[in-house]
Amino acid sequence: MNSEKYGANNHKSEKILGRGATAVVKLCSPINSDKKFAVKEFRLRRKDERQKEYVKKLIAEFCISSTLDHENIIKTVDLIQDDKKRWCVVMEYAEGGDLYSKISGGLLTDPDTIDCFFKQLLKGVSYLHSMGVAHRDLKPENLLLDGSARILKITDFGVSEVFRAPFESTSRKAQGMCGSGPYIAPEEFIQKEYDSEAVDVWAVGIIFYVMTYNSIPWKSASPQDSRYKHYQEHRGNFWPIDRLPPAKRKIMYRILDPEVSKRGSMKEIMADEWIQSISCCRSGMPAEAVNHSHRGLLEKPHT
Ligand code: ADP
Ligand code: MG
Repeated sequence: MNSEKYGANNHKSEKILGRGATAVVKLCSPINSDKKFAVKEFRLRRKDERQKEYVKKLIAEFCISSTLDHENIIKTVDLIQDDKKRWCVVMEYAEGGDLYSKISGGLLTDPDTIDCFFKQLLKGVSYLHSMGVAHRDLKPENLLLDGSARILKITDFGVSEVFRAPFESTSRKAQGMCGSGPYIAPEEFIQKEYDSEAVDVWAVGIIFYVMTYNSIPWKSASPQDSRYKHYQEHRGNFWPIDRLPPAKRKIMYRILDPEVSKRGSMKEIMADEWIQSISCCRSGMPAEAVNHSHRGLLEKPHT
């Protein structure tokens, strides 16, 4: 039985790694083995949800994530049913936990480390887009770290979308607002259809902001939000972005452009001189090879 292979039925030793809106993720280990897996156990089907829709959603999550192979994307290993007949996705275990805990714990303060994570995030998202997949729920809770806290890995493909199949040359627009309040791009609030690559670009910009200031710029980029409205009216004169060094300021305004047609594309951002110059960690690279240290992230949270 597959679930035994990953220790998913070994309920006594289960440790909860995290919870999200759709699932609880547990640390599992097969009996008599030191191998570790993160097992994402999906919530039970809602009463108003049809069995077909429910299964379709979780199979889509598994199918998309299991085709991806990049050092900045979490590896998906298997889809199983445990002894309680719950569907579970088995993944590589990210020992460093999620980036949200590091930020809210006050551990992510070094600008060079922030730049390193930012570049790794951009590399992961560029790869995703090159595969025709948009994530649509990028936020620090869905960014995990390895045991050394040097390598960032994107996870949670629960609302991701294939906007271009391998045999297609044009991209499809997406529908339906998804993601999490502050990270949602403005066009999702006002348009029925939108470009899902561009909404990932927007979310990446908000993540940079949150890593830098340990706070969100606005609750939502919607016309009703007064802080967002202030940003829209004072773009180019918005102090949290203006106080950044010029190279970062330029990129932030390119990314956080409310007008989708003018927003920087992933290609343009990756080609930017400052982004190119960021010294970022790669797995297997010696710690001394970069200009910064991630050691502070391994401490206990300050708050
Ligand atoms: P949801 O779809 O419900 O948001 P996620 O896949 O985002 O579920 O997982 C919820 C949380 O569990 C994450 O925010 C993270 O803290 C933790 N988590 C998820 N996957 C792993 C993993 N592979 N290794 C370690 N922790 C994880
Ligand atoms: Mg999540």
